[in-house]
Amino acid sequence: MYRKDTDCVYNPPRHQGVNTPIHTSTANRYLGHTEILYPRSYNTENQNAIVEKLCRLEHGEAGLVFSSGAAATSTVLLSFLQAGDHVLFSQEVYGGTTKLAIEELSKYNISFDFVSSADMAHIESRIKPNTRIIYSETPSNPLLSIVDLEAISAIAKRHSLLTVVDSTFATPMNQNPLLLGFDVVLHSGTKYLGGHHDLCFGAVVTSQHLKDIIYRSAVNLGGSLNGLDCYLIERSLKTLALRVERQNASALQLAQALQDHLAVAKVYYPGLPGHPHHRVAARQMPGGFGGMLSFVLKDAAQTEDFLNRLQLIVPALSLGGVDSTICQPSKSSHASLPESERLELGITDGLLRLSVGIENAEDLLQDLEAALR
Ligand SMILES: *Cc1c(COP(=O)(O)O)cnc(C)c1O
Repeated sequence: MYRKDTDCVYNPPRHQGVNTPIHTSTANRYLGHTEILYPRSYNTENQNAIVEKLCRLEHGEAGLVFSSGAAATSTVLLSFLQAGDHVLFSQEVYGGTTKLAIEELSKYNISFDFVSSADMAHIESRIKPNTRIIYSETPSNPLLSIVDLEAISAIAKRHSLLTVVDSTFATPMNQNPLLLGFDVVLHSGTKYLGGHHDLCFGAVVTSQHLKDIIYRSAVNLGGSLNGLDCYLIERSLKTLALRVERQNASALQLAQALQDHLAVAKVYYPGLPGHPHHRVAARQMPGGFGGMLSFVLKDAAQTEDFLNRLQLIVPALSLGGVDSTICQPSKSSHASLPESERLELGITDGLLRLSVGIENAEDLLQDLEAALR
């Protein structure tokens, strides 16, 4: 067993090359072979190489990689649910996951509720006889709320429910939900695992038994990943520890500086002692608090001007890459919500979500300060 930063880099010596050779063949000889390689069988060498790496990083037995984070989410949900079942989602899951529930699960007579994960008693009171899954996401988007994974897993065990968590914002470097009692951890690899704004993929890590169940649906649903992307992911994972370490440190530094800035009304970052779930975050994110932070401008009318004045930080959607990106959730990820619902969630017009990259933190701070001035 190596430490995580070594596991990001090291490939077991299966080949003469240090890297896994790219395997692109979809037709493979079957005479004399017990296993037939095929991308949608999730068994090619390139898929296996990154799954093994992610399993070591997440302390799981088995996993699968998918063509997007959304494919990972939908495949996991559809492999465990059937008509008549019920799911509890934490209120602040990714917008695409909310849409998946409302627009797809409902077609199959699968019901669901969105619950505030901060209130454990509340969660337990919403469990129904037909509830099968508690689905969480932590830290959440865009307000960086923290779900207490140990507490949720204790409730789920009492009621024999499956627990699934979207750990995209944390990465395996900062948080390992399987060690906190969760059954399945999933990632939008499009964000930190890929890390360069040029790949779209998803990943699931779990036990061998649960992977076998997910696998049967995954083959039918067909969201598998191709060899060329696997190769780029293997390359990306080699620098994951370095990138996340820098992003953790810079995000904390920027959060502290923004907190003291006169033009900023509020900063959301789980690493700040004033964050409402700071103590839970410190316990369940031993690696760091992540590279995402949000802040609110005192003068919301200035938000678009502020974005236009930035020289280094790029106003762009998506997150988790080496370049720092920023967006205004009320005009992007949450634009389709009715205003009253948006405000209820705390997504005001002055709210900005910053994904801290690996640039020099002083340069990032100067860019923010100049635009705030
Ligand atoms: C982006 C994202 C997803 C969806 O992933 P895709 O790769 O875009 O399909 C799911 N969860 C979170 C938290 C995300 O940020």
